[in-house]
Amino acid sequence: MICVIGGAGYIGSHCVKRLLERGYNVVTLDNLEAGHLAAVVGGEFIQGDYTDRWSLDGLFSSYPIECVMHFAAYASVAESMTDPARFYRLNVVGGYVLLEAMRAHRIPYLIFSSSAATYGEPRQVPIAEDHPQEPTNAYGETKRAFEQMLRWYDVAFGLRSISLRYFNAAGADPDGQLGEDHHPETHLIPLVLLTALGKRAVIKIFGTDYDTPDGTAIRDYIHVTDLADAHILAYEALKRGAPTTAYNLGNGLGYSVREVIRTAEQVVGRSIPQEEAPRRAGDPARLVASAERARRELGWQPQYADLRTIIETAWRWHSTHPDGYADRV
Ligand code: UDP
Repeated sequence: MICVIGGAGYIGSHCVKRLLERGYNVVTLDNLEAGHLAAVVGGEFIQGDYTDRWSLDGLFSSYPIECVMHFAAYASVAESMTDPARFYRLNVVGGYVLLEAMRAHRIPYLIFSSSAATYGEPRQVPIAEDHPQEPTNAYGETKRAFEQMLRWYDVAFGLRSISLRYFNAAGADPDGQLGEDHHPETHLIPLVLLTALGKRAVIKIFGTDYDTPDGTAIRDYIHVTDLADAHILAYEALKRGAPTTAYNLGNGLGYSVREVIRTAEQVVGRSIPQEEAPRRAGDPARLVASAERARRELGWQPQYADLRTIIETAWRWHSTHPDGYADRV
């Protein structure tokens, strides 16, 4: 059985769905602080906090869990700069509580949601896994810290893990059942589509003076269902004896903010109000992954690599769920 921590969140919920489709038994643990109960499409669900050892002991002694997929974390870069303590408490101290509980219950495998933010300002693109990890924000630092803990928990205790460094998670369940619903929303694609729906007045373009062809920042958008598939492949690799390691997950394709908005306009069939704005602090000009190792070693093959397809799936969700899961006031 697989335990998905944070399985009611954006990426976790897509992973739960994919695991169930593949016939795995799943138990989701989520405190619903940011997650949505309606996003958990099946399996068992426990509402609880993974930083609480007592909850984890209850969960781990009630189910025959072989692998934990750990998605639960604070992820807003801006907030990590004003309140790093909160990020250390959940992402690092909470992670320690989780690892200790896994150790006590002899759970052998963990898949961890890491981030391209662990690299910091890229020295070159595309970024491969051996690029130095020098995070420029507290969020990335907490992700890096947990990756390091994982390394030493393998050396000392034999707990094997794979950290997956996501680039820009985007898109929605191709069936239209699940989507992205953050409060507050800060990500480009949902904000562009909410603007198209009239839920926002205008999409601000953060920075038009970058050293890129159109002056706006370039990111590697990777479909959330492709991320989910990588988690399953990583788990299967651990079962076959793969060592503790980390992989980048991206398409190796970079799209600028203007390209994203233009593609969204084509998908929705109308123009979207936009406005040029200053750069957002800490945003690098260009983040593009080399995910060759994940392809080669895990056999990962993204199915929804094309930006237009990514935005079409996101639009299917937003246009049919203009208020998201509609469970927040
Ligand atoms: N962005 C933007 N306007 C927005 C939100 C984001 O121009 O309202 C830009 C942001 O500066 C970055 C890119 O879009 O260059 C992707 O940002 P997002 O927050 O989606 O992901 P991040 O790259 O920060 O993880």
